[in-house]
Amino acid sequence: MTQLQRLFNKFNKLFFGGKLPKVPVRWQANLIAKEGAIGICYPNKIFLSPILRIDVRFVRLILLHEMAHLKFYSLNRFRVGHGHTWHKEMMLL
Ligand SMILES: [Zn+2]
Repeated sequence: MTQLQRLFNKFNKLFFGGKLPKVPVRWQANLIAKEGAIGICYPNKIFLSPILRIDVRFVRLILLHEMAHLKFYSLNRFRVGHGHTWHKEMMLL
C-alpha cells in the first residue's frame, strides 16, 4: 500500500467514520497543466499533484479537501463544487 493510500485510510477513519468508499489515491504529474488544480476528486479516484510533496502539510490539507468532495459524491452522486454545504463540511473537519 502506498503512503498516500495509508493517509487516506487514516483520514477516512479519523474524520469520516470510515464511511468513505475506498478509492485509489495517486500522484498525477500533469495535474496542474491538465486540470488547473493541485488536487482533483472523481467519484472513483483522487489525484494529487506531486508539487504538494514540498510540504507534508499541503498533502494532508489537499487530500482532506478532496475527501470532503468524495463524501458528497457518495451521498449525492454529483459534484457539489465549493458551495455552502461543502464549506460547512470543511469547517467540521
Ligand atoms: Zn475542491
